[in-house]
Amino acid sequence: MSVPEVLLEKARLASQNAYAPYSEFSVGAAIRWRGGHVSTGANVENASYGLTLCAERVAVVTAASEGHREVEEVALWVESDKAASPCGACLQVLVEFCSDPSAVRLTMASRQGARIETLADLMPQPFRLREPDPERA
Ligand SMILES: [Zn+2]
Repeated sequence: MSVPEVLLEKARLASQNAYAPYSEFSVGAAIRWRGGHVSTGANVENASYGLTLCAERVAVVTAASEGHREVEEVALWVESDKAASPCGACLQVLVEFCSDPSAVRLTMASRQGARIETLADLMPQPFRLREPDPERA
């Protein structure tokens, strides 16, 4: 699988807006939704650490609150030498807006390169209250 250069560049640019004074670990996410919309997000930390938001969740809620419902592809950039996977909370939030996690490509990149998995690879048995409707908006 080839690296989605445009989506990854959007994630890299988003990481420049990270507010990470505590961890100094800047992350950017870019998500392509059904219909072509792309949302981006950066991590936003808080002195009360538990209130910190990851870049992926910022990108999801930004688009979901605008009416987008189906994630098609995710790119994640960490301003580091080592790529990182989304945390469990972000995987669960991504799955909420994904009717087929095995069809969602997730690229995780850093200054040293990228690796590509599917959302199902990272979250094989997500929690769901009901099966998703693949026809949703
Ligand atoms: Zn996270």
